[in-house]
Amino acid sequence: MNQPLKQHLIDPEICIRCYTCEMTCPIGAIQHDDNNVVVDPDICDSCMDCIPVCPTGSIDEWRVVETPYGLDDQYGWEELPEQQEIGAASTGGDAEALDPAIAALLEDAHKGAGGKARAPASAAKPTINMYTLGKPAKANVQGNFRLTAADSETDIRHIILTFQGQTFPVLEGQTIGIIPPGTDADGNAQLPRLYSVSSPRDGERENFGNVSLSVKREDRGVASNYICDLKPGDEVMVTGPFGSTFLLPEDPQARLLMVCTGTGSAPMRAFTMRRERTVGNKSGGMTMFFGARSPDSLPYFGPLNKLPASLLRTHMVFSRIPGAPKEYVQDRMMVEQEAIADLLSDPKTHIYICGLRGMEEGVEKTLTNIAESIGTPWAALRDSMRDEGRYHVETY
Ligand code: NAP
Repeated sequence: MNQPLKQHLIDPEICIRCYTCEMTCPIGAIQHDDNNVVVDPDICDSCMDCIPVCPTGSIDEWRVVETPYGLDDQYGWEELPEQQEIGAASTGGDAEALDPAIAALLEDAHKGAGGKARAPASAAKPTINMYTLGKPAKANVQGNFRLTAADSETDIRHIILTFQGQTFPVLEGQTIGIIPPGTDADGNAQLPRLYSVSSPRDGERENFGNVSLSVKREDRGVASNYICDLKPGDEVMVTGPFGSTFLLPEDPQARLLMVCTGTGSAPMRAFTMRRERTVGNKSGGMTMFFGARSPDSLPYFGPLNKLPASLLRTHMVFSRIPGAPKEYVQDRMMVEQEAIADLLSDPKTHIYICGLRGMEEGVEKTLTNIAESIGTPWAALRDSMRDEGRYHVETY
């Protein structure tokens, strides 16, 4: 029998193919084909550098194995294999013979940083990875509108793409990849950059199947400048869709607590439009805390302000208004703690957090304070919400 070892793997169902892990790995142990991103067991030394950079947590998967899964196995997977019983079953011994060190490894293999994300129980089944780097979909630009004030230093665009009759089935909360033209500094073709769709599944325009994105122009950003400069009619190469957990519950009774900053509002817009088209102005359905520097840099500021409170309770929070104190989403959540405590107590509540990675800590602290004010330990509540597909985080 080979000595059991802990093998690092990537969950193909959760991975959004952003390749950040591959770019981060200092020893080139991570690679991809058109289907999956995989870890070479002959190279990986479990240095963990790739773990914190993964936006979905799909990177944090481990199996204790006697013979590591090879690259061909991993490229062929649509889902991760279950943890096999090691020792007793495979050696013909009895279960008592399981080495405590191996048992500890097995337990550890199921932990994962922050736990494994799950889709809401009532979410529609998403299509993933239909179009790939080698076989992208071709879309055309239908529109490119600046969402932020002309004199705002923040240039955020609302980009509308049409797939001209090609099937591109996308759900709210999913992500698509845009492949910038040309090559990178090493002469390799550009890899796709990921953006959350900001339109609902039946289209930016109802029943048209077109897809919108919210894209912020970044200084020297290869993809963001390419996208923000697109003109109507331009052809764009698109991969995806990706993402099978950050999804909207179909249950019309579900309540949503949405917390976002900047362009992290994209999926929240999609959720809101889907709800508006299906559930209508149902009282108490959705609450959003949305942070931006100022009103003129908050995308969708005007349309959001026009929505009735019976559909969406909106708390817009600004950090850089001259003469006013800096306020972050987590500060306003504390002010609204009673409403949030009510949401936390309701088993129909789903929490979505999307935007800057930095806000995660502050939002967690606030949720801890509010949960504890009603006698509920937050970590336990969060873990059970995550296991039930009711707690979702997507931060970059
Ligand atoms: P931003 O303009 O840089 O920031 C938005 C607001 O968040 C500002 O008011 C900022 O305040 C505040 N903020 C900064 N640090 C914070 C913290 N620790 N806690 C709470 N609030 C904080 O945002 P952005 O550039 O649009 O970035 C949004 C993020 O969403 C990006 O990381 C992006 O990758 C990600 N995202 C984008 C999409 C998409 O589809 N485009 C989808 C998902 C996620 P100050 O600047 O005044 O400190």
